Amino acid sequence: MDAHAVPVAANPKLATGPIVLLGAPGAGKGTQAKQIAVHFGIPQVSTGDLLRDHVHRNTPLGQQAQAIMGRGELVPDQLVCDMVGQRLAEPDCARGFILDGFPRTVGQAHWLDGRLQAGLLRGKPAEKVPLLVIDIAIDHALLVERLTARRTCPQCGAIYNLHFNSPRQPGVCDVDGAALITRKDDREEVIVERLKTYERETLPLTDYYQKCGTLRRVDGGGTAEQIALAIRDLLEHRGG
Ligand code: AMP
Repeated sequence: MDAHAVPVAANPKLATGPIVLLGAPGAGKGTQAKQIAVHFGIPQVSTGDLLRDHVHRNTPLGQQAQAIMGRGELVPDQLVCDMVGQRLAEPDCARGFILDGFPRTVGQAHWLDGRLQAGLLRGKPAEKVPLLVIDIAIDHALLVERLTARRTCPQCGAIYNLHFNSPRQPGVCDVDGAALITRKDDREEVIVERLKTYERETLPLTDYYQKCGTLRRVDGGGTAEQIALAIRDLLEHRGG
């Protein structure tokens, strides 16, 4: 599909509340988060993007994070939580936000629970919608293949895949014409580490949120459109 096949106009009256997208690297969190963000008119908060921006700007956080990310490991909870805390305090997050790549550890999930309980959202009480966690479940055998074929636009963040969502002109972003890149951590040896890290640190979160009753699953093996429809359906019929 077109990476920016878009969108029904955002519905500013719908209080979307906080949404977490869980899933292994390559499950399609980034692609889906962008669509949900446009559809519901809420910001996508991607910790990977925020960290890459810090690395790009060579901030103290970026300097600490760069080597860790290059190895496919996780940046320490405290650093990531502080960064997310600052982002979620911005006014555009008041009606809801979609977290993409956060939380990634049980410690981060506890931190998020604490922030939500403390009334992190700045909207009116009627707009306070409980957390919804959507796990994009996918067969791990598909992930390495997907990640090695991923290309991203360094300008606008559009995500392509050489197998099933290639740009119209090879190597060039459909949206802004920038030269597409392969993320440094999408090399096979780093991918293997990222998947191990996911299984060790992040997979336990599905149990955690299952016990909290906030977890919903969608099948990540379908096309991006099928996954997007399943997620939209969940969000529009969630009740509460
Ligand atoms: P992503 O773009 O979500 O795949 O993230 C890229 C890299 O950024 C990860 O492999 C981690 O090194 C780091 N990272 C992103 N989100 C987090 C997080 N919530 N906690 C720790 N490290 C993170």
